[in-house]
Amino acid sequence: MKLPEHSLDFDREHIWHPYTSLTNPLPVFLVTGAEGCRITLEDGRSLIDGMASWWAVIHGYNHPELNRALKEQIDSFSHVMFGGLTNKPAIELCSRLVDMTPAGLEKVFLADSGSVAVEVAMKMAIQYWFARGQRGKNRFLTIRNGYHGDTFHAMSVCDPETGMHSIYKGILPEYFFADAPQIPFSGEWDELDIAPMQKLLEQHAESLCAVILEPVVQGAGGMRFYHPLYLRRLRSLCDHYGVLLIADEIATGFGRSGRLFACEHAEITPDIMCVGKAITGGCMSLAAVLTTEEVGHGVSLEGPGNPGVFMHGPTFMGNPLACAVACRSIDLLQETNWQANVSRVERGLRAGLTPCAEMVGVKEVRVLGAIGVVEMEKPVDMARCQQLFVDRGVWVRPFGRLVYVMPPFVMTDSELEILTGAICEVVELEGKI
Ligand code: PMP
Repeated sequence: MKLPEHSLDFDREHIWHPYTSLTNPLPVFLVTGAEGCRITLEDGRSLIDGMASWWAVIHGYNHPELNRALKEQIDSFSHVMFGGLTNKPAIELCSRLVDMTPAGLEKVFLADSGSVAVEVAMKMAIQYWFARGQRGKNRFLTIRNGYHGDTFHAMSVCDPETGMHSIYKGILPEYFFADAPQIPFSGEWDELDIAPMQKLLEQHAESLCAVILEPVVQGAGGMRFYHPLYLRRLRSLCDHYGVLLIADEIATGFGRSGRLFACEHAEITPDIMCVGKAITGGCMSLAAVLTTEEVGHGVSLEGPGNPGVFMHGPTFMGNPLACAVACRSIDLLQETNWQANVSRVERGLRAGLTPCAEMVGVKEVRVLGAIGVVEMEKPVDMARCQQLFVDRGVWVRPFGRLVYVMPPFVMTDSELEILTGAICEVVELEGKI
């Protein structure tokens, strides 16, 4: 590949990275390969990857089966438009998604990224009520500490403090925020936990089209694991007040939390569910929005002002390449006994991270499924920590007060030991600063 002579200089001068300044960017490391649970840097160093490229690479990098699915599809055709045409990989994928997601989710909209899936889900909720003539029902309710993506409507339901509301004040729609659930995943349930949500539903049901939240695991907005009964109660409340429930499973979907979908911890079916990230095993960008027959048909009602069609259709909708690799990734998930792997990773994370709980500067250690979190009392210096991790042969990218990992499900016990050992060392150093 032809690269400018000083690749990293070019990168620094010309290329934006996620959430960074163009004038004072954080350092980046040049990757030349990735295999299994390891990332290779240009200087030959090999890092054990704790991030699974932001929840996505569940089967490890450069997986021969996923590569084969991609190559076979490339040799057939990489893309055809989805308007007026369809393709077998997309049909197969949607059929798998309908089978594996909570009962009742039957209609699928394929989108190109998680944020777009959230936009689609929110548009569906608005159009559902619009088509039924209830045009005042077009506002959203969510919980604090949430994260749903970086596009406009997704941002509007991200946590108002850690999200980007201040920059876009006056432009971003202002929605309702309930206090985040406080009872942890395995804590003792208390009905008071749902009271702030119930109050807002009661006050605003007439103007609310949907509640949107991340089920059980709040990811980028705080890495918090809340009690599944919160979700169960919320399902009943939404039914009672006539408000749709949107579950954003983009981070949690496909086994990450110890269940195939986090909604299963509460045994609920949302009205609309978004999945993404791990759907292609981390090979390509793809997402999907699933909904019930009730909502799907509701959106499609023809009536005064409602065109009877859902007004969204991205260029790369139903991309056969992404769908083909997603089908194979889902098969692999089932063939490789993901549940046993996730439980094994969970045990490894718990054993390896528990010592951090006693360290100076650590607020809490928590583990759920293949997600491990060390919450510090103070924000850590991301660039410094990243370098300390790289020096120890692992890839971990903390943010704010959170040092967290969500490794590929196939990470071996010895790799997990190295990963968690490095976290203990870095947390100990950071806690003393
Ligand atoms: N929802 C959740 C819960 C997420 O974690 C993310 C991504 N971090 C998104 C939505 C947005 O997905 P994408 O980055 O693919 O747009």
